[in-house]
Amino acid sequence: VRVVKALCDQKNISITGVTKVFRGDPRIARIFLEEGISMLGDSRVDNLKRMRDLPAEKWLIRPPMLSEAAAVARFADAALHSEWEVIRAVAAEAYRMGRQHKVILMADLGDIREGYVDPEELLRVAAQIESLPAASLYGLGVNLTCFSFIQPDTEKMAQLAELAQRAGQAAGHPVRIVSGGNSATLDLMLRGGIPAGVNNLRLGEGLLFGRE
Ligand SMILES: *Cc1c(COP(=O)(O)O)cnc(C)c1O
Repeated sequence: VRVVKALCDQKNISITGVTKVFRGDPRIARIFLEEGISMLGDSRVDNLKRMRDLPAEKWLIRPPMLSEAAAVARFADAALHSEWEVIRAVAAEAYRMGRQHKVILMADLGDIREGYVDPEELLRVAAQIESLPAASLYGLGVNLTCFSFIQPDTEKMAQLAELAQRAGQAAGHPVRIVSGGNSATLDLMLRGGIPAGVNNLRLGEGLLFGRE
């Protein structure tokens, strides 16, 4: 964790420590936090719930289902979203709880797993989010090498950074998070291939095993 964190720090890339492969065990997640990681991501709401007492920002790292809007609003501070209807539902639940929900919009750059395929639709949603009292546009993200073996490269990262800038304009404020993928993007980072503008990676395997 210490080595990977130092490498990412050198490139001004923040880490969201992914906890799903150890089922959100707070004893292991705590090690991420002790090494200076401040954001934790998991694909299961139950795992986020296990980590509720840890002082970190919690992300649900998959598109939430409509049926779990309340649980997401309660146990996640942020989530990776691809559907306006779900964003609205999570924000409505957050409003009821007096909480704020941070939206990270996913862009599909070829992996065909999740995210907006049409950038114009993503930009429309980016603007709409700002009309919700309990939600805000926090960032943009991409997922690669999951479904279709599309590899991260500088061109895709630049595409994401550009879209993030346009999303910030649409929302009326710059986005804080531009998340360039999982451990499979580490190699590109080490080769200096991540352009300015991409500032976050979501790392599971890289932190646990030091590889991708
Ligand atoms: C599991 C997961 C990650 C972490 O992947 P690693 O290859 O273990 O780093 C990142 N993002 C999403 C959306 C994931 O589901």
